[in-house]
Amino acid sequence: MAAVSDADNLASIKLFNDPAEAAPQPPGKRPLAVIGAGFSGTIAVLHLLRQLPIDQPVLLCERAPEFARGVAYATGDNDHLLNVRATNMSALADEPSHFADWLRRRAEQTSQGLHPTEAGLFASRGLYGQYLRTLLDTALRETAGHAQLRLMPDDVTDVTPISGAGFTLTFAGGAKIDVAGIVLAVGNLSPEETPDPRICANPWGEKASKKLAGDLPVLIVGTGLTMVDLVISIRRRGFTGKIIAMSRGGLLPSRHASVDPWPMPRLTPAELKSMHLLMNRIRREVGAAAQHGVDWRAVIDSLRPFTAQLWGGMPLAERRRFLRHVRRYWDVHRHRMAPPHADLIAQMQREGSLQIMAGRVLGYDTNGGLVNVRYRLRGAGNEQVLPVQRVIVANGLEAIERTRDPLMGRLIASGLARFDKHNMGLDVTEALHVVRADGTPAERIWALGPIVRGVFWECVAVPDIRVQASHMAASVVAGLRADAPKWNFII
Ligand SMILES: Cc1cc2nc3c(=O)[nH]c(=O)nc-3n(C[C@H](O)[C@H](O)[C@H](O)COP(=O)(O)OP(=O)(O)OC[C@H]3O[C@@H](n4cnc5c(N)ncnc54)[C@H](O)[C@@H]3O)c2cc1C
Repeated sequence: MAAVSDADNLASIKLFNDPAEAAPQPPGKRPLAVIGAGFSGTIAVLHLLRQLPIDQPVLLCERAPEFARGVAYATGDNDHLLNVRATNMSALADEPSHFADWLRRRAEQTSQGLHPTEAGLFASRGLYGQYLRTLLDTALRETAGHAQLRLMPDDVTDVTPISGAGFTLTFAGGAKIDVAGIVLAVGNLSPEETPDPRICANPWGEKASKKLAGDLPVLIVGTGLTMVDLVISIRRRGFTGKIIAMSRGGLLPSRHASVDPWPMPRLTPAELKSMHLLMNRIRREVGAAAQHGVDWRAVIDSLRPFTAQLWGGMPLAERRRFLRHVRRYWDVHRHRMAPPHADLIAQMQREGSLQIMAGRVLGYDTNGGLVNVRYRLRGAGNEQVLPVQRVIVANGLEAIERTRDPLMGRLIASGLARFDKHNMGLDVTEALHVVRADGTPAERIWALGPIVRGVFWECVAVPDIRVQASHMAASVVAGLRADAPKWNFII
């Protein structure tokens, strides 16, 4: 199936930006709005279209130039690879080989973007974006006859409840649309960029890897997969100077390897309630696997389908302990590098063009041409200074409450939503209803994907979000059905 460009689509698909249509509508006609068209929003839409009656319109809103890409799959850099094997990247949980089959059909014409390795096939993230786009295009075509799915290419900046029946969305472009309910699929909220060209707060922005001088060093704060991405982008732009990456532990993500499966350990009630006991058990399980010639990765992978349950069942204090003491070790074992990336990083370390440091950035002095970074190496007492031409912060938004995102600000200020207990994202119920400031579920606002990771932990990658999207659609259908008499909603 040929991909259709956004330009083609915007011309052929009726967008929901006609002021006459945007005028207040009777409740029964109001669309369900999905805010954010990255992986989570796009797949949420596919499930909603499968599960909702065909007279329930769905409006997909996206502020970025392209739909069905999101932060992860908008990259035009062919060297940016998926960090999950292609065989596990189907967008549809009930069709596990969907992406691999799509790749196979495409490979008959070109193998560009495909990287076969000893640990399996890894595809470029740009290619994955094309795949998502074809899924969205198919949905648009299939629903075109009854115009069930519309795209709204604008930034949602406010949500206000309409008394008893839905919400009015306000868009940056000035439009206002009344909707029946809202699915928040807003993803990883990017930190606000700084005006100083030498300090990059958003590692995914254009500014991060642009216009670097030949030989003056660059500091990346963070040593995870985002750092790996940055190193690739910076190198691709011809930078030949030294890149220094610093994090408190100085730990690099591990490398993917081919592994045999290992069964999920049967955990005791005590292990399910104590992070310390759980980690000890995982260590013992890794030892047991090794005795059978099975790699540690298989043990970590065995936990994955149950991680959300484990997380939810742990007392709050234990989850906090995990975030403080275990997270950085967990992350480097759980989120791994594709072998070509691991090879590049190792080679650059050998050459000296990349240096990984364990330390803590204490502050910057930006007077003068260079940025003087004050830091302390792990275990060292004295403060040191590192002059660099640019600092790129790549260790994520530390606390969601620091976000400057207008929509998030409005949702919190109006009490329609509240942050989760770990300050990582939004608080939601098991059924993915957003929890209001007063602790009650917002009946017609749902959220999914990385924005709810404080509640589920394991919901940031495709294999987990695709399952969550299906649950969310079922919750939406049940929620709207509960409103049926008021909404004249027929199922
Ligand atoms: C660089 C990177 C690489 C990754 N690689 C992988 C991988 O290889 N495999 C894997 O399984 N996972 C990977 N992930 C994890 C990734 O989080 C998920 O795969 C998934 O892409 C998350 O999708 P999302 O739609 O929830 O978030 P996002 O991709 O962040 O998309 C959210 C979208 O919402 C839009 N939006 C936000 N607010 C508004 C608003 N108010 N109005 C309108 N639009 C709005 C944004 O513009 C954005 O397009 C990667 C993540 C990153 C950041």
